[in-house]
Amino acid sequence: FIVCSLQLVEMLDMSVPAVAKLRRLLDNLPREALPDILTSIIRTSNQEKLQMTIPLLVRQIEGLKLLQKTRKPKQDDDKRVVAIRPNRRINHIPSAIEDEEEEDHDDVVMLEKKIRTSSMSEQALKVCLKEIKRLKKMPQSMPEYALTRNYLELMVELPWNKSTKDRLEIRAARILLDNDHYAMEKLKKRVLEYLAVRQLKNNLKGPILCFVGPPGVGKTSVGRSIAKTLGREFHRIALGGVCDQSDIRGHRRTYVGSMPGRIINGLKTVGVNNPVFLLDEVDKLGKSLQGDPAAALLEVLDPEQNHSFTDHYLNVAFDLSQVLFIATANTTATIPPALLDRMEIIQVPGYTQEEKIEIAHRHLIPKQLEQHGLTPQQIQIPQVTTLDIITRYTREAGVRSLDRKLGAICRAVAVKVAEGQHKEAKPDRAEVGEGEDCKEHVTEDAKPESISYTADLALPPEMPILIDFHALKDILGPPMYEMEVSERLSQPGVAIGLAWTPLGGEIMFVEASRMEGEGQLTLTGQLGDVMKESAHLAISWLRSNAKRYQLTNASGSFDLLDNTDIHLHFPAGAVTKDGPSAGVTIVTCLASLFSGRLVCSDVAMTGEITLRGLVLPVGGIKDKVLAAHRAGLKRIIIPRRNEKDLEEIAVNVRQDLTFVLASCLDDVLNAAFDGGFAVKPGVEHLSSKL
Ligand code: ADP
Repeated sequence: FIVCSLQLVEMLDMSVPAVAKLRRLLDNLPREALPDILTSIIRTSNQEKLQMTIPLLVRQIEGLKLLQKTRKPKQDDDKRVVAIRPNRRINHIPSAIEDEEEEDHDDVVMLEKKIRTSSMSEQALKVCLKEIKRLKKMPQSMPEYALTRNYLELMVELPWNKSTKDRLEIRAARILLDNDHYAMEKLKKRVLEYLAVRQLKNNLKGPILCFVGPPGVGKTSVGRSIAKTLGREFHRIALGGVCDQSDIRGHRRTYVGSMPGRIINGLKTVGVNNPVFLLDEVDKLGKSLQGDPAAALLEVLDPEQNHSFTDHYLNVAFDLSQVLFIATANTTATIPPALLDRMEIIQVPGYTQEEKIEIAHRHLIPKQLEQHGLTPQQIQIPQVTTLDIITRYTREAGVRSLDRKLGAICRAVAVKVAEGQHKEAKPDRAEVGEGEDCKEHVTEDAKPESISYTADLALPPEMPILIDFHALKDILGPPMYEMEVSERLSQPGVAIGLAWTPLGGEIMFVEASRMEGEGQLTLTGQLGDVMKESAHLAISWLRSNAKRYQLTNASGSFDLLDNTDIHLHFPAGAVTKDGPSAGVTIVTCLASLFSGRLVCSDVAMTGEITLRGLVLPVGGIKDKVLAAHRAGLKRIIIPRRNEKDLEEIAVNVRQDLTFVLASCLDDVLNAAFDGGFAVKPGVEHLSSKL
């Protein structure tokens, strides 16, 4: 419009004074105003203007008519339609609208029929019939029409009374759980107990099971197996990052874009009212101004309340009492306490290397082969290769990365197999020509019964393709993790601690260095307050015991901070760390720094310290021990009062490790240094009275 108007103004003949005046006037106007002004002064007949305007007027009349129809009974509208029939054009439009209305009316009648025949609760039926009544009077063009219709369609679709029949047989359940999952005995035992009670008592009141453990340890997959054993539908509701209670409870229907919450949506998806709902990552629920989703979840999980759960969108109660809820989390620390109270926590720790190998060969590899359309005749992954993947390409408590790496291998092999098939099917001339070179290449690279992945692409590979370490390097690239433990302990002032994270246990190097200064302590590595305090405690204890252990600063003084600054660093610097369990590691690291002696390279430790040098128990021992084992460490120092936690650790892991139970820092230092850490005779030994 604007471009046309400008063009028109440009073309005005400036030689005529009146026109020139007009042009100046128009030039001074804002460009947006030009189209309006020009249309009003343009040369056109009245007839022409009328012809253009009439359709617009008709449209306006129709709009108004529809609006009035929603407010007044239908008979009035009919009269008005007759009243506005001045010519044939106008006549035509209302009749089309009437046709549409007719069709629409049929739809609504069908919907009403569906509502009446559905098995919804009495309360819901009442609400739906009322809405249908409104819908009948509403023109289709109104936004509310679509809203109400969607609502009613959802109400009809919801499984008010539809359920699957439970088939629970404990023996079969045990077999299924065992077949689907290797190891995790404690979890499987508890799940079977839970199912057995359900079989005997046939009601769902009781705590909600919550599997807590690092990612990739099979929490979701056990949930799926439970659904399978019960013959129920399974639905996963991811709660990570949910911070609005309407996500759980739905939005009220008063505003556009409103929709039901995830629970009702889940029920619509599965189509039955007794599915297994897996509430994934309950520890990652957020909070915001839009209400607390944890509070909404409480209502969902409470057996006293959930038979009449009211989603804001539905606005009528839906009975959730038949739904079996299972929750998963990485840590209990961030689960809202009220929610935690409703749940029975079952810890699912990480796996040992041996368990991972078994899981890979029994479950992950067959699954990956199937997903990639491969057979065991085409690819062979020996156990040593799996171990290589576990130790050099992954560092995790669960098996998720391992699974992904196996997937990558299968993809690479699939390409080779597919290429091979293609070539076998129609060998082309180029290949025949190059054949001899290729053969030479293959015989050089590959063993007789297997073919390295690196073999020449031009030849169909010999089956099965053996995945050895070279193939692994080709596909996955150079190893990501090497055993660098001993390397890093090659100078004084480094010790290995054990940390617990929601992703499982981890080994942590603590580094210390000293320099000339004024007795300042610098701490880096994103430490929390508790950890900073541990560092101060450690320094104070060492200063007060410097004489006993003959620890000196660079100039030989027992006052360790005299003219000396200390810097303690906890890699990885980008990860926030907190907790008291690094206490013993900091002491050991500093003792090494001030004595100039190396900490044994195969020792890891964990434990809280007190100012008087006692070692207090800490959590997460099992995960920490598994992490140390993964890293190839041999001796582990733990607080004496954590001895009981060792029972939970698999025998084969325990056999590989030596545990030192420490009740005071003397024990720790003695175990951490080769040949012990001598105390100067005559100074009293502190023993734990805890
Ligand atoms: P999580 O929910 O704990 O993060 P998943 O249930 O998604 O982990 O598990 C990741 C993958 O690992 C799945 O394919 C699962 O089948 C497999 N997996 C984990 N643990 C086991 C096990 N003990 N036996 C067999 N497969 C397992």
